[in-house]
Amino acid sequence: MEYKLTFKDYNEALKQHRLCGLKCRSCGEVVAQPRLACGKCGSSQLDVINLQGAGVLRSFTVINVAPEGREKDVPYIVVLVELNEGPWIMGNLTGVAPDSANMELIGRKVVMEGIVAVSDKFTGGEVAGPVFALDSQLT
Ligand SMILES: [Zn+2]
Repeated sequence: MEYKLTFKDYNEALKQHRLCGLKCRSCGEVVAQPRLACGKCGSSQLDVINLQGAGVLRSFTVINVAPEGREKDVPYIVVLVELNEGPWIMGNLTGVAPDSANMELIGRKVVMEGIVAVSDKFTGGEVAGPVFALDSQLT
């Protein structure tokens, strides 16, 4: 088996503000991160697709104590987003002050607005992550 979408390709695409995912040819399941096989049916017949980067904010947490290497970024908001295509993905949230983040964020529509390049001792090199913003026109 081989990775149809490697972490390197996923990262490079993200740096160009494209969010890649995989769609299972057997059952249609969509996943948002590089994976060897479909988590639902086990098939390795996966096709690389572009995700819209839009979805609903399902959970969040405010990071006040940064992982080593990100001290200058705190406080920041980490969100769990359910993408329109189905998969859930983690990212950062911009446009909301961390000290005013509250439960009203849950259920809000968000869109991917950019990326954050993270390079700390745990990522083994520079890794990109999606940054979401509230989609105020749709909420
Ligand atoms: Zn499948």
